[in-house]
Amino acid sequence: MEIGFIGLGNMGFPMARRLIEAGHQLTVFDTRKEAADKLVALGAEAASSPKDVADRCETVLASLPSLQASLEVATGPGGVIEGKRVKRFVDLSTVGSQMASKIQGLLAERNIVQIDSPVSGGVGGAEKGTLAVMVSGPRADCEAVKPALGVIGKVFFIGEKPGSAQTMKLANNFLSATAMLATSEAVVMGVKAGLDPSVMIDVINAGSGLNTASRDKFPRSVLPRSFDFGFATGLMVKDVRLALEEMKSLGLSMEVAEAVGRLWEVIIRDEGAESDFTVAIKPIERAAGVVVGGAKGIHAAK
Ligand code: NAD
Repeated sequence: MEIGFIGLGNMGFPMARRLIEAGHQLTVFDTRKEAADKLVALGAEAASSPKDVADRCETVLASLPSLQASLEVATGPGGVIEGKRVKRFVDLSTVGSQMASKIQGLLAERNIVQIDSPVSGGVGGAEKGTLAVMVSGPRADCEAVKPALGVIGKVFFIGEKPGSAQTMKLANNFLSATAMLATSEAVVMGVKAGLDPSVMIDVINAGSGLNTASRDKFPRSVLPRSFDFGFATGLMVKDVRLALEEMKSLGLSMEVAEAVGRLWEVIIRDEGAESDFTVAIKPIERAAGVVVGGAKGIHAAK
């Protein structure tokens, strides 16, 4: 397929690379020229703007870091909406159901179909093509883009209602955000009491406490204290805020989600939006007066 791809960051770059490797013809754009250049070296064509991408391709994918970026790229001046050839805009970003519906409505005025397609599974999943790809939009258009989306992961059709895949994604990321905090509190409790955090993680992963933080994030980025998992704190906080908004708009009051939301606001305030989200343990450590892990994965009490 001829595919346009806008936003070549932590997620977009490996997804675009897989599409090239699978034989698709890619036209790419990113405000960071160096990111596009690397894909051109792998066989993609460079475009000069989102409109330029949409002038050349019927299907345009995007993986962007904020709601505003998705709105501007899709519907702003020089955006996909002005493209001559484009038929479908597939947003792989997490923007929440309200923004997805807004973009869907604006694009529909120009007969461009918006397909929601948020993904889960992190940078590793994007590299291996094992993401969970949640799709909502008109069924026929979702089918039409399946050959491309199947290259980046397992495709789940969520529904035709605009934004429903975003609701699915927010439910997933609320759980991921919660697991990161709950695992941090559990391990800090153990370390404060004198337990070895490496042993704790092994036990949790062999037991009923197993979750994606204990399985992936702690061994890879927390215990070695590399804090380099590849997902920014700012993006995690965006998703947690979106999940809370979604719950409120449905008239729900969610006690766990509100506690999780409050703690992530402390993390972004103390550690900054650019930090990797695995730093979530640091404010919890500071409050407890311990540090988890280290070069040998052995705990050290302050
Ligand atoms: P990122 O910040 O690494 O990449 C975003 C890219 O978009 C950058 O290369 C940036 O230069 C580019 N960009 C920004 N504004 C642009 C514009 N106006 N026009 C063109 N390019 C523009 O972010 P990411 O981690 O790749 O995340 C992208 C999306 O995927 C987010 O919605 C995020 O929530 C979601 N997501 C991320 C992960 C993860 O593990 N990183 C996992 C699942 C979903």
